[in-house]
Amino acid sequence: MHPLLARALEVMPGGVSSPVRAFRAVGGEPPIVARAEGAEIVDVDGKSYIDLVCSWGPLILGHAHPAVVEAVQRAAADGLSFGATCEREVLLAEAVLKRFPWADKVRFVSTGTEAVMSAVRLARGATGRDRIVKFEACYHGHVDSLLVKGGSGLATLGIPDSAGVPSALASLTDILPLDDEAAASELFAARGHEIAAVIIEPLPANSGLLVQRHAFLQHLRQLTREHGSVLIFDEVISGLRVAPGGMSELTSITPDLVTLGKIVGGGMPVGAYLASDELMRHVAPLGPVYQAGTLSGNPVSMAAGLATLALLEKPEVYRRLEEKGAALQRGMQSALDRCGVAARVAREGSILWLSLQAGPAPRAWHQVDKSGAALYAKIHREALRRGLWMAPSAFEVAFVSLAHETEHLARALNAFEGAVQAATQER
Ligand SMILES: *Cc1c(COP(=O)(O)O)cnc(C)c1O
Repeated sequence: MHPLLARALEVMPGGVSSPVRAFRAVGGEPPIVARAEGAEIVDVDGKSYIDLVCSWGPLILGHAHPAVVEAVQRAAADGLSFGATCEREVLLAEAVLKRFPWADKVRFVSTGTEAVMSAVRLARGATGRDRIVKFEACYHGHVDSLLVKGGSGLATLGIPDSAGVPSALASLTDILPLDDEAAASELFAARGHEIAAVIIEPLPANSGLLVQRHAFLQHLRQLTREHGSVLIFDEVISGLRVAPGGMSELTSITPDLVTLGKIVGGGMPVGAYLASDELMRHVAPLGPVYQAGTLSGNPVSMAAGLATLALLEKPEVYRRLEEKGAALQRGMQSALDRCGVAARVAREGSILWLSLQAGPAPRAWHQVDKSGAALYAKIHREALRRGLWMAPSAFEVAFVSLAHETEHLARALNAFEGAVQAATQER
């Protein structure tokens, strides 16, 4: 074992600050990272990898983009934190709202989890209702009310999915299957008047990539509108990535509240929630829904977000991301086909997922064949050995950045094919 990993294990639970980093789902030793640049990440032993994780989504420009690094350095020299409104914060708020024209106001927080937690509180405060609805396989950060799984049955009362979440709180959350209009209708018919909010990743990308039908999302919009519930699109991954205005732009379905994270901070800790004036007037200091943060709107984080969003305004950026994603998808699919593996590479723009099962790409969690995880673990280990950094779980997606040039994609595909070959021969 690497001596630094051994020391990490001595001082941090599992040796990590976030559980998936411990490689429990795939086995093997997680490398300790020294630095990263563009499409590459380098471990403390100097081994370099093509990175398809990209810090789990924020790095749409790749690692350490010079313009972002410079903006951060300049901001840091101006002061690390003020505890008061700063110019960069106003500029980032304007830059965000420009991309979500249906929203009037944005509140900055420090993580995606915090954005979701605050959005749920706002929905409850504004409606005076307690119940919330989430979907199986959607992840919304480690918010108590949303670390909940379904019991048996179609629409079920939630039970805690983590120790430490009170069952009294979990029972206020209903869990629905994705891709199922009838189940949603049934739940709303039974207790629509008690439902404060429906929260969904409009492009579910935390348990595989489960692309939803437009008609399903539209149905949720209609149900929530009819019953006076708030529709929350959790766009912590999809916002600013699949289109400037995320899925609300791509689908032309306007939610009531959007949560952002990841890209909006350009690699620094930033989360945000945005909505109309009608909803945001409930947030303190304008209204009774309390939400605050010592480091919210942090000037250095705002600078990283601003520099990132500025670069995303260059022409053709989203077309280039689409092309890079498509090239990687084609290459991975051919490699899998050549190795005789029944699999499909699902994709939306620059987000890809290796679905290790035959047939059409799944849209709901019960359609996902979980037995693919064993083969994925082998592929992951072989890929890492060959200098390809893939997510350490079969159900996490891959991200392509603007820094992934043809040469990086070729290296990634070469390593991937070698890894699939080795993993399938091993059996
Ligand atoms: C990552 C993520 C979160 C949580 O964000 P953190 O910054 O990790 O707290 C919430 N929702 C979605 C959809 C995410 O992908």
